[in-house]
Amino acid sequence: MTCPLCKNQESTSFIGINDILFWKCPSCYLIYKDQSFHPTPNEEELRYNHHHNNSECEGYVDSLNQALEPSRNYIDKHMVGLDFGCGPEPVLAKMLEETSAECYHYDPIFFPELPDERLDFVISTETFEHFSHPSQELNLITSLLIPSGILTVMTHRWKDDTNLADWWYMRDQTHVCFFHDKTFEYICKKYGFSTEYDDGDKVIILRKIIAWEK
Ligand SMILES: [Zn+2]
Repeated sequence: MTCPLCKNQESTSFIGINDILFWKCPSCYLIYKDQSFHPTPNEEELRYNHHHNNSECEGYVDSLNQALEPSRNYIDKHMVGLDFGCGPEPVLAKMLEETSAECYHYDPIFFPELPDERLDFVISTETFEHFSHPSQELNLITSLLIPSGILTVMTHRWKDDTNLADWWYMRDQTHVCFFHDKTFEYICKKYGFSTEYDDGDKVIILRKIIAWEK
């Protein structure tokens, strides 16, 4: 099976939670769900609408803050950024605009229009695990950023000691790919980023260090 991120062709399969077929790439360590188990676009939309994530939901705001707080060290008032994969309500963009920078929002289902200017930063929370085509999404994100632009990603990473037969993060039907520390090492190398901050678990902040063209 060909890895949808690094294109290595030697992924090995395993049966995970709920008898779902997963693949693991030996090169970039991405774990991805077999296409036959991916949700349909309808199922995806239903699921996101049921998330009920909005600014009144305290748990959700707390969770966004875990990505936003460390990102603030790299963002100032004059910058323009994007909340990539905001879901049905652009909560993070609002939180950011209340105190600092201008922030667009984008979501392939709910707000499919991208800004037509290059961005100082992109923040993507609980989105990378939904990517069916991670190499395409990373091409897109990288092309949106100015050189030296900042990319914050929040997605739970799997570890060498994660029990892949019973990991809660794999239980969500719409979660289709799972990143490891080594996956981010690959992303940095391939797309020209360096790591600025890493909480060791789910929030990582990267800086684009080279001019990169598709
Ligand atoms: Zn790979």
